[in-house]
Amino acid sequence: MEAAVGYRPRVGLREEREKSVLGRHPWIFSGAISRVDGSPGMGETVEVISSKGETLGKGAFSPSSQIRVRLWSSDPECVIDRQFFEQRIKEAIRLRADLPSLSSSTNAFRLINGESDRLPGLIVDRYADFLVCQFLSAGPEYFRDIIVSLLSELYPCSGIYERSDADVREKEGLDPRKGVLFGEDPPELLEITEGPCRFLVDIKTGQKTGFFLDQRENRQRLAAYCDGAQVLNCFSYSGAFAARALKAGASHVLNLDDSASALELCAKNMELNGIPQERWENLQGNAFKVLRQFREQERRFDIIVLDPPRFVDAKSHLMRAARGYKDINLLAFGLLRPGGYLFTFSCSGLLATDLFGKIVSDAALDTKRHARIVERLFQAPDHPVGLNFPEGAYLKGLVLCVM
Ligand code: SAH
Repeated sequence: MEAAVGYRPRVGLREEREKSVLGRHPWIFSGAISRVDGSPGMGETVEVISSKGETLGKGAFSPSSQIRVRLWSSDPECVIDRQFFEQRIKEAIRLRADLPSLSSSTNAFRLINGESDRLPGLIVDRYADFLVCQFLSAGPEYFRDIIVSLLSELYPCSGIYERSDADVREKEGLDPRKGVLFGEDPPELLEITEGPCRFLVDIKTGQKTGFFLDQRENRQRLAAYCDGAQVLNCFSYSGAFAARALKAGASHVLNLDDSASALELCAKNMELNGIPQERWENLQGNAFKVLRQFREQERRFDIIVLDPPRFVDAKSHLMRAARGYKDINLLAFGLLRPGGYLFTFSCSGLLATDLFGKIVSDAALDTKRHARIVERLFQAPDHPVGLNFPEGAYLKGLVLCVM
């Protein structure tokens, strides 16, 4: 009977690899698949079938990715159509509306967080009146027109801009793409507010979708420690940690980044927040080298923020990344005054929280500094983590009091 209804591509699982799908983990790796019936194209919806022949859910097929299927739903009856996306997008919007004090404190946040909002591969960030989308895998790419049309209806905005120029698309066999998807072309620099600060965001060419929204709450935590402090903001990007620290009474912030364009924007952000020139300085350079120079010069700071880029993008790089994290933390420990604070982060999803803690602890040991963890930090709640998707918890941080 079913065959007569039409073409229904299916993916069969190996029995020993079914556990993760039964646990609703959204990723099905190529090695877990025993057979593919039909010849599903890029992003097409497939039924996922157990070794016993039961339907376990529906997912998006990605022929050239190691992650061959990303599950849209574990409901065997679910139809992946406009209505499906409408419901999931509404759920995501609803969560952000519910989050305490999010919309009253900022007009920039993550509206859709991929797998954790049960929309694998889809990222949508809101910046004031604009939305910025990333279609990072075959599924959302296949449904892009429906998704854009729904976003414009469900979340009225001046325009929707695409920033699907992230490296991960390559693994999916998708070309990088960017440009206007709906409405107006956004300005080169868009102004947002975050707590007491205003920031200019370059959504067209800035890093990620233009701003590190995931660090919002951690910037607020930093502010609480800053009164009168001399701060080194290492890997500063556009100065978001700096502006929060200075507004909260830090006496001086040194922003360090190797990107000239990031520091140019950082300078604009310092001005936009009315921070006098004598309270901040920008330094362009490689943090690993500059911190060594500072060590030789015996420079000291009250607070150091270390927010390096993702050092690990493949498991095979883990050891090298671990050395990088240890090195930079070791240097930072050496530059803190006794009683100073280190805000140290890792945004590498592949580096487990425990291992990160161990690396930082080894770094302290090597510098013979005693450190106490006073806070453990995490990504902001508009970047929720699906309980079935631990990989979603990528950002971790420690606030350490260093003697
Ligand atoms: N803390 C920032 C985000 C940091 S992103 C915020 O809250 O907005 C990481 C930054 O590190 C990027 O701006 C990148 O240009 C910079 N970077 C990468 N490698 C670097 C290096 N070796 N030395 C200095 N900066 C580096």
